[in-house]
Amino acid sequence: MGAPYATLEQMEPGIARLLAHNPSPFTFTGTQSYLVGTSEVAVIDPGPDLHEHLDALEAAIAGRTVAAILCTHTHRDHSPGASPLASRTGAPIIGCAPLSMETVGPRADASFDPDYMPDRVLEDGESINIDGLKLTAVATPGHTSNHLCFALEDSGALFTGDHVMGWSTTVVIPPDGDMAAYMASLEKLRQREDRIYYPAHGPAVTKPAQLVRGLIGHRMQREKQILRLVGEQPRSIPDIVARAYPGIDRRLTGAAGASVHAHLLDLHARGLVQLEGEQWAPSKAE
Ligand SMILES: [Zn+2]
Repeated sequence: MGAPYATLEQMEPGIARLLAHNPSPFTFTGTQSYLVGTSEVAVIDPGPDLHEHLDALEAAIAGRTVAAILCTHTHRDHSPGASPLASRTGAPIIGCAPLSMETVGPRADASFDPDYMPDRVLEDGESINIDGLKLTAVATPGHTSNHLCFALEDSGALFTGDHVMGWSTTVVIPPDGDMAAYMASLEKLRQREDRIYYPAHGPAVTKPAQLVRGLIGHRMQREKQILRLVGEQPRSIPDIVARAYPGIDRRLTGAAGASVHAHLLDLHARGLVQLEGEQWAPSKAE
């Protein structure tokens, strides 16, 4: 069965989903944009700047007022559609902060959208009104430092972007991705009692509490495994990846290495490991 590109899916009253045609090992079937509201709408994660997706969004909006275009974060599969959609609809771009990454050097990251320019940045806990509904920003750094989830108040729905997804664990890529922040953001979601998550990739999550507990457990297992591996002998990141992710899709080894690196940086900050040349080892006791 083919994925429902350019087909509006009504998830529940006031929440509809539209899938962009940008499938990849990192985006699953593609980026899902959400339309929230009925007589007036907000668009969450307009997605990549793809003509056919913007056309499909415009058709789904069907002449209604767009109160806001919201971005959860500024990876290239999420925010580049914001500016062209704003031109088409006159709507303001509201949501996560822009992030300037270098184009060369240690903080360079080609996965970021350098052109994202919001009209208004939402801080943690700030809300906007859409069609009598309230959308509230929930700051969830980790996948990126500027990541926001959006809660539709009184509905129990949380738009989780790339922070929590049903199809796969998120990637945490240093230097902008931060494992300690990601774990704290998972804990933040664990303490909320949302009914359902609508992620930017993959199916809606109907048992959010269970999934978040599982993700926290998964990362703690991974951390233990990394500590055990470097405890056996000093190891490089590729060596750790080969042992911790047997049989991984070759296209994902870079992301796995970044995730391991993110864990190691977190463990280092906690005084548990140290770098010796190219190899990671347990910290020596004082
Ligand atoms: Zn992302």
